[in-house]
Amino acid sequence: MSISHKVVIVGGGAAGIATAASLLARRKGLDIAIVEPNDTHAYQPGWTMVGGGIFDPKVTVRPMASVMPKGVTWIRQGVTGFTPDSNEVTLSDGSKLGYEVLVVAPGIRLAWEKIAGLEETLGRNGVTSNYRYDLAPYTWELVERMRSGKALFTQPPMPIKCAGAPQKAMYLACDHWLRRGVLDQVEVGFCNAGGVLFGVADYVPALMSYIEKYNVALNLGNDLIAVDGPAQKAVFKTSEGEVTREFDMLHVVPPQVAPQFLADSPLAADTGFTDVDHHTLQHVRYPNVFGLGDGANTPNAKTAAAARKQAPVVAVNALQELDGHNPRAGYDGYGSCPLTVERGKIVLAEFGYGGKLAPSFPTWLVDGTKPQRLSWMLKADALPWIYWNGMLKGREWLAGPGGLIAQ
Ligand code: FAD
Repeated sequence: MSISHKVVIVGGGAAGIATAASLLARRKGLDIAIVEPNDTHAYQPGWTMVGGGIFDPKVTVRPMASVMPKGVTWIRQGVTGFTPDSNEVTLSDGSKLGYEVLVVAPGIRLAWEKIAGLEETLGRNGVTSNYRYDLAPYTWELVERMRSGKALFTQPPMPIKCAGAPQKAMYLACDHWLRRGVLDQVEVGFCNAGGVLFGVADYVPALMSYIEKYNVALNLGNDLIAVDGPAQKAVFKTSEGEVTREFDMLHVVPPQVAPQFLADSPLAADTGFTDVDHHTLQHVRYPNVFGLGDGANTPNAKTAAAARKQAPVVAVNALQELDGHNPRAGYDGYGSCPLTVERGKIVLAEFGYGGKLAPSFPTWLVDGTKPQRLSWMLKADALPWIYWNGMLKGREWLAGPGGLIAQ
């Protein structure tokens, strides 16, 4: 007979840990197991700051054991498959784990292999990415070292986690070169597979003013498909065919896809992500399954900020399900992207489904559409603290499960 828990959570990342903590804040002693193979938990939003020379990499990671909420059973394995008809998941050792309620939060997979030649040159030949803990310090090393030459920053097709992160890396680099007095010797290019600088139009004017200030060549519709590290050449697919560009520094954001074991399962939508209702976050076919975080098929900005708002909603609705009731909490699509346009200033994009602006603060205090110092303090000081001490501990600051749905 397989082992079973009342609630099984797949993934001990931002979304999984926050959900466990929010469940326990509502129901002490609830029997929860988290399946998570990694020993380390990362605060990924901090990696932009590592790449910008602002954070020490060490402040962005903690032992997984230290973030596991008290009383939760941590199963140190990966999930390899789902059999929702028998309320079981399969673990990497081949055993089965049963549940009454399942929460799916395995994040998104970085598909480095989709760009030919990339994996073998990452961390060498001037090729870097803030999307990996071990590479973000190399970004800063390259930025610091550069006095002249060509710097390229790329963005793959959507969906990606933190859609602003590709350009955040660039702005922080440009700001450093400007302060150093070398920016006019550095040719900077932003190559974005998409057709716009940022998906929510209200933030574009502020961002465009920095594109102009830093004299960045904006190449929209340019999708990185291959890298030749030793020759320092990058190949892009464009509507006019392939274009090859030389670089001295290349910051790559990889294409991103649903984790394969999820995409192959009965829980997946066509996209491969967990097929949940966009508001209740309950699975559309299996009512005792919920999904959130980057692995959910919801059209929000995939961010830790989104997971912070989703976790309380899943906690409320999962308890409703355990108690035999319909979901009653709703998620409004909130996501946030603090765009680090220069050291000390941020354009704080906060929006919900359909790009509807959703500011956390009154405009007189923080106008998200303008670069602001207070927003920088939020990103550099307040948000990491809120993450470790609020979100992961079931204290739902800035994140109560609002938007109750009339049943
Ligand atoms: P993750 O935090 O990635 O966690 C997924 C977990 O699932 C991992 O621990 C993984 O080990 C586990 N897992 C994977 N496969 C399995 C399996 N088979 N079985 C069991 N467990 C599994 N967000 C913001 O809000 N603001 C920002 O400024 C911001 N900037 C970012 C900058 C960068 C460079 C990056 C990379 C991300 C940034 N984000 C930002 C995005 C944010 O980090 C993610 O949206 C957030 O971590 C999503 O949480 P998650 O739990 O869904 O996924």
